[in-house]
Amino acid sequence: MLARAHDEREAEAIVVGRGQAGEARVLLRREAVEAGGGLLALRLGRQLAGDRRLAGQVGVRPDERGAGLGRRGLDRPHHGGVQRVDAAERARGPRRLGDPRRRLEGAPEARHEGVAVEAVDRVDVDALRRDRAEAIDCAALSARVTVIEGCAIATVDDERREIADGHIVCADGRIAALGTGRAPAAGDGARRIDGRGKLATPGLVNCHHHLYQHATRGYAQQATLFEWLVALYPVWLHVDDAVVDAAARAGLAALARSGCTTSTDHHYIFPRDAGDLLAVEIAAARAIGLRFHPCRGAMDLGAGAGGLPPDELVEDRDAILAASAAAIDRFHDPEPGAMVRIALAPTSPFSVTGELMAETAELARARGVRLHTHLAETDDEEAFCLERFGVRPLRYVEDLGWLGDDVWLAHCVHLDGAEAERLGATGTGVAHCPTSNGRLGAGIARVPALLAAGAPVGLGVDGAASNECGELVDELRAALMLARVNGGPGALTARDALEMATRHGARCLGRDDELGHLSVGALADVALWDLGEPGYAGIADAVAALAFGPTRPVDLLLVGGEVVVQDGELRTADPVTLAADLARQSARMAERSAR
Ligand SMILES: [Zn+2]
Repeated sequence: MLARAHDEREAEAIVVGRGQAGEARVLLRREAVEAGGGLLALRLGRQLAGDRRLAGQVGVRPDERGAGLGRRGLDRPHHGGVQRVDAAERARGPRRLGDPRRRLEGAPEARHEGVAVEAVDRVDVDALRRDRAEAIDCAALSARVTVIEGCAIATVDDERREIADGHIVCADGRIAALGTGRAPAAGDGARRIDGRGKLATPGLVNCHHHLYQHATRGYAQQATLFEWLVALYPVWLHVDDAVVDAAARAGLAALARSGCTTSTDHHYIFPRDAGDLLAVEIAAARAIGLRFHPCRGAMDLGAGAGGLPPDELVEDRDAILAASAAAIDRFHDPEPGAMVRIALAPTSPFSVTGELMAETAELARARGVRLHTHLAETDDEEAFCLERFGVRPLRYVEDLGWLGDDVWLAHCVHLDGAEAERLGATGTGVAHCPTSNGRLGAGIARVPALLAAGAPVGLGVDGAASNECGELVDELRAALMLARVNGGPGALTARDALEMATRHGARCLGRDDELGHLSVGALADVALWDLGEPGYAGIADAVAALAFGPTRPVDLLLVGGEVVVQDGELRTADPVTLAADLARQSARMAERSAR
């Protein structure tokens, strides 16, 4: 798979297939490179791609006049077996947590990275020589190109680069160029965003939620988790498709306006004859425009068998497993760039049987989907597990096959040091939900210990019935404050919190190859925060301004390069309609449960 020629007037594109030894060098004319090198490389990579199951990298090397693109950032270890990093870059070393070099910086030269492509498994050398750059139609590309310039950028990439004044070019749903200074030319049709005074971060990833709960907010305000659940189960008996539709749309809108581009949802209430609830919330996510990882939740341990939920609200185990398999068949998209992926999620140790946990793990692993549940949220749950199973919650689920890098667990508040180490050693993820933990008085998760152990720790808003809000950027601030209440001012930094909300969240959902960081080839899921207003004025550190400062709606939100929020306003739904529908369904729930 090698195509190479040489011409003084041309620059090179370099293509390396995942797990393959060869590389292809493809020439582009100078004018083509100048017309948008990264975009050309992206399109070129796709032309070379014959098989979407593989992945590779494309970059354009600078020619002697510097019109092309730099190669740094190509061939990260997790993208394949080829390791190729500039010597100068290696000397600078990665920017780890706490490294003082992880400050906003502006390198003088414009730099661009390689572009990930879906596959490279066959290159027609003769065709490439024949077609060269004529095969690339820049004008056609430009309609789907968005250029953001003049912004600060916190990339959260492998090197944790921060750029004081840079650009991001999004094309065909992915980041095609990113670097300091002005963007490469992208054609007249490109959408242009003035990023001055703003900070670009990866779109935030929400790792735990129950969207339907948006319709049951304000209940049981002084209750513990178990008291709160017992108060709300009778209300949730009346959940149906109209409730889920209104609540999901409102909840997803709140997430979008708070910078979230990818959300999970843990839906575990399936009353009889309630409708096709998973399909309804997936349709809502499509309408709002967010990437969505809904979990097919379940409860099969009712009060009659020693569980917490009423018997009317639990399902039969075989029916749950059949519905879980059907959810994967109907909705799960394993392909790169997926907008919808399914996970399986029995609800909690006190509402499901061990048999369902074990059989669900078996099903998920046979089908290649992830596993999620609540764990170690409260003292009451710990007491329940000790009394019923004779072991603490973590040991209980470990014995059922529930630790591993395909599992992420909500809360994990009540873990000892050895248990935190166990999560790190197994790569099990944690969805930290600080506001919900505060609202229910559940306790404070030992986030620094979990991070030190190497566990991915994402952030979650949790259901809005234990939160009364569902804005994800607020959880950065809450995570910082709770960690510091417990562990002092050095317990967690603003950058740690941003990393949790992005990269760690993507790891929890199994998407960190293409989500949770701003780097060329990653999906074009971008949050742009306006830090020019008085609430942030004078805070020189943009990341600190975002994490510690007042929370505001995101200024611009792109999901796969498509605009979801602009000028702080949701562009995919009418907020007045969303509010009216949610109020109507909340009132309907209250009336029905009062009967
Ligand atoms: Zn929850």
